[in-house]
Amino acid sequence: MDPPQPGSPRGGTVYLVGAGPGDPGLITLRGAELLQSADLILYDNLTSADVLALARPDAERLYVGKKRAKHTYTQGEINDLMIKAARTGRSVVRLKGGDPYVFGRGGEEARAMADSGVPFEVVPGVTSALGVAAYAGMPLTHRDHTRVVTMLTGHDIDSIDWKLMAGRQTLVVFMGLMSFKAIARRLIDAGLDRATPSAAVRWVTRGDQQVVPGTLGDLPAKVAAMGLKPPALVVIGEIVRLRERIDWFAKLPLRGQSVVVTRAASQSRPFCEQLRRLGANVIAIPTIEFEEPLDWGPADAAIGNLSDYAFVVFTSVNGVDRFLARLDASEHDLRDLPSRICAIGPATENRLQQLHLRVDVLPEEFVAESLVEALEALEMNGSRVLLPRAQDARELLPAKLAELGATVDVVPVYRTVLPESSRELAREAWRADRAPDWVTVTSSSTVRNLAELVPIDDLRRSKLASIGPVTSGTARELGLRVLAEASPFTTDGLAKALCAAVQSAFASDA
Ligand code: SAH
Repeated sequence: MDPPQPGSPRGGTVYLVGAGPGDPGLITLRGAELLQSADLILYDNLTSADVLALARPDAERLYVGKKRAKHTYTQGEINDLMIKAARTGRSVVRLKGGDPYVFGRGGEEARAMADSGVPFEVVPGVTSALGVAAYAGMPLTHRDHTRVVTMLTGHDIDSIDWKLMAGRQTLVVFMGLMSFKAIARRLIDAGLDRATPSAAVRWVTRGDQQVVPGTLGDLPAKVAAMGLKPPALVVIGEIVRLRERIDWFAKLPLRGQSVVVTRAASQSRPFCEQLRRLGANVIAIPTIEFEEPLDWGPADAAIGNLSDYAFVVFTSVNGVDRFLARLDASEHDLRDLPSRICAIGPATENRLQQLHLRVDVLPEEFVAESLVEALEALEMNGSRVLLPRAQDARELLPAKLAELGATVDVVPVYRTVLPESSRELAREAWRADRAPDWVTVTSSSTVRNLAELVPIDDLRRSKLASIGPVTSGTARELGLRVLAEASPFTTDGLAKALCAAVQSAFASDA
């Protein structure tokens, strides 16, 4: 048996892990490490999907929250579940929004573990109170304004000494949105100035963070007018005023834009992360996923005769990975491949370089047409070309290479299918009263499947951003208008095109 990896969870242990306030970059290293290797993960409404996505794909995930639940678990049941799972040798992560020991009943859960004798550990997290400070520009302390910070819960307002609270400086109210009108009343009655700057902030640190600023006196009405819903924190104190100068998050180029990413889940994380760091509210709705080709025969035949090929052309990262995995499973290896290697774009080239393979031919523009031009310069007549790629891909490349006199073996190494689980995500995103601002499409198959997932009239309510002319062409054939197109034809180019389109829309609004 392999020795356990350092840092990986011990079976039979319960980990109370702070998930941080929402931005998946804000979980601790230890928390992420445990999440990536736990057998069972218990989570609730405060756990954002982006954090949960860090978990091992095959880990069991159990929702123990109260919203939209088929079965609501009592605290006692949650404790029992954890104890039982640990006793069967599983490693259990109990993910808690923010920090487990800040208004999260983490203390009760730890106590239950201790009483049961099940080993447990606690991993702190960035509490939402610190998340709001950083991402809404309200430092909780400041030499000129605040030397005392108080965190309080608005859950049971009769149990709080409001006279004491009114004498404090920065107040951070948890679970106090619904009762905020009464809280403000009590603070004012206890002597706190109604002009004290205050702000309610929903879903702190996430792409859909919403800030409602005001004063203690007018914030309740503003919250009601905005229809702001929990979870939200209310911050009260002079430091709220600093927002206007130091709210860096509000100034990010894609701030306020909801952006759908349609790439396959297995490949979308870097692009999602890039958009998130530009301030977007990223909604991942994978419209494709990859499966085995229907027939491995042609690929296997090619692998058996690798020395016949003068060129091998890779048109996607996935093509590289799938072809080489099949090669690994055969009795051959890369030493049998004498061919020159061509890649269609920088991502494919990168992937090959990571595998220590030099790319001999990379087109100027990252489309098949440009690759054909690059190959034209080489002697193709009579050459045998291997093209490992998706089943049902464009015919252009093999046809053009044949025109140059090459013999092309097109071998499917994967096929793209529509993930059924995305239907629900799409329904959530396009509702009668809302639609995402942008949808990004990164290949013809992502657009085609998108049009199967979402009615075309709904799709037209969002703006479409495409990775390049071929994908844009497919979108237009489906009756969609493309409002931003990448150049170069990469995800970096796409992120830049989105920023430019958003900036110019702001400029023309102004
Ligand atoms: N342990 C958590 C708090 C849990 S109590 C922490 O450390 O943050 C639940 C309350 O926390 C919510 O009602 C809300 O007031 C606040 N909260 C937690 N996460 C939040 C978030 N991402 N955005 C806004 N408020 C949040």
